[in-house]
Amino acid sequence: MSGVNDLSSPMQQPEVVGRKEPAMLTDCHFLREVYTLLFDHYGPQHWWPGDTPDEILAGCVLSQNTRWERVVPVIEGLKQAGILSPSRLAELTLEDLTGYLHDSGTYRRKSEYLLELAAYFTENGWTSDCDSMAHTDTDRLRCELLSLRGIGPETADCIMLYVLKRPVFVIDAYTRRILDRHGMESAHASYPELQALFHRSLERDVSLFNEYHALLVRCGKEFCRPKPLCEGCPLARLLGE
Ligand code: SF4
Repeated sequence: MSGVNDLSSPMQQPEVVGRKEPAMLTDCHFLREVYTLLFDHYGPQHWWPGDTPDEILAGCVLSQNTRWERVVPVIEGLKQAGILSPSRLAELTLEDLTGYLHDSGTYRRKSEYLLELAAYFTENGWTSDCDSMAHTDTDRLRCELLSLRGIGPETADCIMLYVLKRPVFVIDAYTRRILDRHGMESAHASYPELQALFHRSLERDVSLFNEYHALLVRCGKEFCRPKPLCEGCPLARLLGE
């Protein structure tokens, strides 16, 4: 992951950050302030967990509605069998693949989705390097990913950002929950609207989007849980009175 260490101030700074009056922060300033506080607190996250783009690609599908801890051994099994790359996956039958995905939750459907995704990447000249698909522009790639079965906006954007290194922000439930609990109307916006807000508010930068999403997930897991643990949370200073 390139440039993560340069992320301490990757964004155009707002003229006035306004910590004194949290309720007065615009959504745009709020998003910038959240990033600064999370990065200052946690530092770089080195996402996505995975050694290679192929591993990350498979992980984007396998982790849908499944705890990451259950995904890790499944990926390890595919790796050890030498079938983790899209070109190898695409050669498998559905029955073959379901045998490997048995422990990943809704394994039959995920096998179908992964086979379809693997075929798409293989047909588009993927060589386990994001440059191999550099010939296709970002909007078209995203659109084509969304046309595949089992690939919704969040999965498509994880692939766009973490596999294909395109500057596309990932919106997930942690993001919405944090915005909602801080009174941001945008928490209830549609996926495209909320994503557009992130794109407008931040520099359109792969490393920044990579880091920001990872930080939101970390904060969501550690503090902004179903029952929030605001005490000690790096974002507590942004809460209203
Ligand atoms: S835990 Fe509290 S302070 Fe932290 S993000 Fe959630 S609502 Fe905000």
